Amino acid sequence: MNTLCQSCGMPMKKDPLNGGTNADASKSAEYCSYCFQDGAFCSPEITTAQEMQTFCIGKLKEHGMPGFMAWLLTRNIPKLKRWAAK
Ligand SMILES: [Zn+2]
Repeated sequence: MNTLCQSCGMPMKKDPLNGGTNADASKSAEYCSYCFQDGAFCSPEITTAQEMQTFCIGKLKEHGMPGFMAWLLTRNIPKLKRWAAK
């Protein structure tokens, strides 16, 4: 199992649902429950790593994180499996 969600980079340990779900209702080993539900990605409007990074930085800032910290935590998103394959 990956330690980081391969879409948004969130530590899987921090996922309250312990991972997303595949179409057959099994747990996804690669994506968190915020990104992946019932075999599909949750945010179809997000199609590039840059869009995902911008989205995550926005979410982290909403939760009170300073901008530079949010950037640090999300800077590896383009290297994750979902985006690297493109
Ligand atoms: Zn995720």
